[in-house]
Amino acid sequence: MSLMFFNTLGRKLEVFKPLQDNQIRMYTCGPTVYDYPHIGNYRTFVFEDVLRKYLEFKGYKVTQVMNLTDVDDKTIRGAQKDGISLREYTTTYSKAFFDDLENLRIEKAEFYPRATDFIDDMVKFTKGLIEKGYAYTSEGSVYFDITKFKDYGKLSGLVIEQLKSGARVKVDEYKKEDAQDFALWKAWDSADKDVFWDTDIGKGRPGWHIECSVMSTKLLGQTFDIHAGGIDLIFPHHENEIAQSEALTGKKFVQYWLHSEHLIVEGQKMSKSLGNFYTLRQLIEMGHDPVAIRYLLISAHYRAPLNFTFDGLKQATASLKRLQVFYGRLQSVDGTVDNKEFEDFTNSTLKKFEEAMDADLNTPLALAALFDYVRDANRLLDGGNFSENDKKRALEVMRKIDSVFSVIQVSKDDIDKEIEELIARRNEARAKKDWALADKIRTRIYERGFILEDTHAGTKAKRITS
Ligand SMILES: [Zn+2]
Repeated sequence: MSLMFFNTLGRKLEVFKPLQDNQIRMYTCGPTVYDYPHIGNYRTFVFEDVLRKYLEFKGYKVTQVMNLTDVDDKTIRGAQKDGISLREYTTTYSKAFFDDLENLRIEKAEFYPRATDFIDDMVKFTKGLIEKGYAYTSEGSVYFDITKFKDYGKLSGLVIEQLKSGARVKVDEYKKEDAQDFALWKAWDSADKDVFWDTDIGKGRPGWHIECSVMSTKLLGQTFDIHAGGIDLIFPHHENEIAQSEALTGKKFVQYWLHSEHLIVEGQKMSKSLGNFYTLRQLIEMGHDPVAIRYLLISAHYRAPLNFTFDGLKQATASLKRLQVFYGRLQSVDGTVDNKEFEDFTNSTLKKFEEAMDADLNTPLALAALFDYVRDANRLLDGGNFSENDKKRALEVMRKIDSVFSVIQVSKDDIDKEIEELIARRNEARAKKDWALADKIRTRIYERGFILEDTHAGTKAKRITS
């Protein structure tokens, strides 16, 4: 079996071959830390987590970089509005982002560089592009001349004739129709107030696109294996990253480009004005389980649009409960009879999981194989037709699959810890007479495979055994 990815560069399925043995270098565009990320952002981050974990499942060692954009139009405006320094402002939202990652069981990347810690490198990079004739200065800003880079458009499929030569765009985000020379360095203006750096290329701040080219090549090398992000980043962000990096180094920037599709909510594009805009913390406050949200996000293929609905979340919660209860049941049963059928089911499930995931991370197909297994295995458990070895192997396969999905629970300790925390939260809710919340938490505990018994000595959790 070989691992295949759909490479946006070239738009076809390709067999994945690392540049160097089993070492993978991967860059994933991170959040702009000016607000709480919304559920659409997390679709991308969860996809990237599954990608990373599946590479690890295949035996690769992954070095992942995810940047934090902590200087741009939005962060500057936000800090000014709150009357605090840019660093103070972005630190608050960086911390919130890391809390969210933990709630969604996203594995930590090796590096989370902040753009403002790499200003000197960005200046050096920009100077290099000026020296090579790819960039020029205009009114104190430095722009990349897209007509000089012959491959411009190769990622997004933009045709060079459409480009308006000599026209310039200073903002970071724009549409394909507005493809123009883009800002590498933005001259200070009064709206930036105290946010600027005095450098060899002038007083100002970096553009957004240059941040990612600089931090990725600095931390991963001039050519690396994988660059991932949401589909909306293909143009202009990733197109510009390629242009800057390849113009400077003369080498191929990235081998495989992977992009996840959009998330819509209840059939509509998410927007604050429609009232269907959700951050992760809002959903958690509403009583939803972040792990069920993770499950919902991986239940669709990453290259298919995902319609996030509250009905869908309810179903996801129920499906997840089936997996978790099965896992709990496996841990608590004792078997005595060797069963070839059980063994075969278990081994073929792992094989089906790997085949599905090898085919460009087909998570819905992999989950379907898992649910077939739960059904068949439950039948055999009901009849007592299994041995201790069957059980051990089944637990091992579930854990292997969950090392990628991270929704079933990994260890008994983790479950116990989580249940303890949920009981404490429920006690708090009861003390405040918030019965609705207490009930929701009880349901959450039930979904983890436990029932609660309220006794005089306190609340105890008991595992559901069938
Ligand atoms: Zn980026």
